[in-house]
Formats: sequence, structure tokens, C-alpha cells
Amino acid sequence: KKVLIVFGTRPEAIKMAPVVKEFKKNGQVFETKVCVTAQHREMLDQVLNFFEIMPDFDLDLMKPNQNLFSLTGDIINGMKPILEDFKPDYVLVHGDTTTSISVALAAFYAGAKVGHVEAGLRTYNKLAPFPEEINRQLTGRIADFHFAPTTQSKENLLSEKTAPNSIVATGNTVIDALLESVNIVNEITDNAQINQLKEIIDPSKKLVVVTGHRRENHGQGFLNICSALSEIARREDVQVIYPVHLNPHVQKPVYSILGDNPHIHLIAPLPYEAFIWLMDKAYLIVTDSGGVQEEAPSLGKPVLVMRDTTERPEAVEAGTVILVGTNKDKIVKEAIDLMDNKDRYKRMSLLHNPYGDGKASQRIVDFLSKN
Ligand code: UDP
Repeated sequence: KKVLIVFGTRPEAIKMAPVVKEFKKNGQVFETKVCVTAQHREMLDQVLNFFEIMPDFDLDLMKPNQNLFSLTGDIINGMKPILEDFKPDYVLVHGDTTTSISVALAAFYAGAKVGHVEAGLRTYNKLAPFPEEINRQLTGRIADFHFAPTTQSKENLLSEKTAPNSIVATGNTVIDALLESVNIVNEITDNAQINQLKEIIDPSKKLVVVTGHRRENHGQGFLNICSALSEIARREDVQVIYPVHLNPHVQKPVYSILGDNPHIHLIAPLPYEAFIWLMDKAYLIVTDSGGVQEEAPSLGKPVLVMRDTTERPEAVEAGTVILVGTNKDKIVKEAIDLMDNKDRYKRMSLLHNPYGDGKASQRIVDFLSKN
């Protein structure tokens, strides 16, 4: 059977890399090809290099001032000849990006069966996050197979009358990627970015690692986040390292407000291997990222999530994640409490990660071998 695995952004590449590897391992059953839309370019390529994935097709679509309208059209048009040429039986897409929905639609037009990896996450608020919630709901409507990372996401799909035998709870492939990589990363002896981080990190301080990029936080949200970080970094025992996302709506406020703060190190987005090395050294992680909040508990790191709603309630329920929104006072209060309240910190860092056991990709391949 022919499988085409398609992705376009950094987080999709990280979460699809173990899926690609697992399908390639099963070469006697599947002929597997990889297509990237390159909705992100630089950050995507860093991941492809680390996981040694050479795409068979590359739409190379990233453009300056890219918008959702042109990107959606370009992806659908770009996929047509690839789908007509390779004629895949299955097309696998991931999550909730413009790539996910556009490729799912193109694959449906081409008559391929669509598998949705990381299916069933929901806030049921179509503007939070925008456009991800609608991207994943529509991708779910199109998909023939749903690989749900948790039982909660499976339940969401069942409540929408998705056929039960088309859904499998697999765990999240982000944990497959993390568990495979974290050992390799700690053995890397000569890596330029890790060496640079070693020079920046002051081991006598509590390291706060920050990431953020969500569209819903652009504008006032990022102004509040920056103001909270300035406040937290006033403590003598704190050091902040923040790899700043390349989106100009993030770069502009972050560099103009935090650029001169001696306790806050703003750096370029890190290659995946350097980022997980850094997370592993953190005391606390502050983020609005989906992937980071799924990874951090596996490394025993408490996370403050700068969002008001979440499609990932499992970690909040498990107690490894605290939702703080973009309210400055709340971010500062929770961060300071986790620095000073050692018992609470310890409890949070010992909790179990609800996102999987590192075998999600295997379950996806097993399921499609039988369908
Ligand atoms: N990540 C990375 N370098 C960085 C920051 C994050 O490789 O400088 C990784 C991180 O480990 C996680 C993924 O990127 O797996 C998260 O991506 P992002 O926050 O862009 O997207 P989201 O997960 O919110 O969709």
C-alpha cells in the first residue's frame, strides 16, 4: 500500500518524524513517501536535519507576508500533481494547521483515504485557538481514520458521531519523538547551539524557559507576557532563556520590550535537539505552545500555559500544567509561588505524563496494516 505523509510546520515535523520512521521500517507492507508544504521553512528544516528525513516532495510554499487565503489555495493546487502522480492509498496529515486541512481536502478530492494524527483535540470555541480549532474539526470531518492521542480526544470524536471503529487512542507521537531523542541529545558532545547555551546558563539560578507564538496572543497578549517576564526576571535567583519564534508579531514586541533586560536571554529558535536539552535543564517552563506542554511533564518540568482555554485538558487535570492566560499578575504569582513553594514544585514535577508511552507511531502503523 502507498502512504503519503504530509506536514508543513516545525511541530508537525517533530510529531510526524517518528511516524515516518515507523512506516519506513515496515517497507514490506507500505511504500512511504514524505511531502512537505514548508509552511514554515527554516524551523522545519532544522527538524528534518535532526531526524534525517529527506522529503520526496517539497512545495516550498513559505512566502513573505503569507496569509491564510493564499496559503490554503497554494497548498491545494500544489498537492494536485503529487497526488495524481503518486496515487497514495493513504494520506496522513497531522493536527490543526493550514497544511492539515488543505492537504486533507486535496487528498479527499483525489480519492485517497485520509488518516488524521493527533485527532480529536477540541476547545469547541471556534476562535480559540484561531484558526486551529476549525482546522482540526474540519480535518476530522474529512478523515477516514482518527489517531487520537488520549481517551479524552477519542471521547470528543465519539460524541461527534465519528464511527467508533475508525478511531484509535494511540498516545501522542510527540512522546515517541522525545523519548527517542532525549538520550541521544544528552550524549551529544559537540553541538554549536548546546555549547552556546552552556555559556549562557548560570547554574546557580533557577532557569525559566519561555516559548510563545499563538495567534490569539498577538497584540495585547504578548505585551502582558513580556511585562510578566520582566517582573519575574527582577528576582536575583532567576534567569530567563527565551527562544523567540520567527513570526514578526512575536519578534517585534518581545525584542522591543525585553531586548535590554540583562536577566533575559532572547535567542533564535533552537533546533529541536538543543531545545529539548534546554528544557531538560529548566526549573520552570512558561509557554503557549501545544507541543511543549505535552513534552515538559515527561522531563518532570512544571509548566505555566499562557492561554485561557485549552484543547489539552489532560495535563491540567493531571496537575502538571497550570493555565495562567495572559494575565500579568497571574503569570507572576504562579511563577513566584513555584520558585518559593518547594513542596508544591516537587509534587508537580513528579506527576505522571498523560500523553503517552512512546509507542503511538507503532499503534498507527499496526492499525493501518489491518485496514
Ligand atoms: N521547539 C523547538 N525549538 C524551539 C522551541 C520549540 O524545536 O526553539 C519544539 C518543541 O520541542 C515542540 C515544538 O517545537 O516539540 C513546539 O512547536 P510550537 O510551539 O511552534 O508549536 P505548537 O506545539 O504550539 O503547535
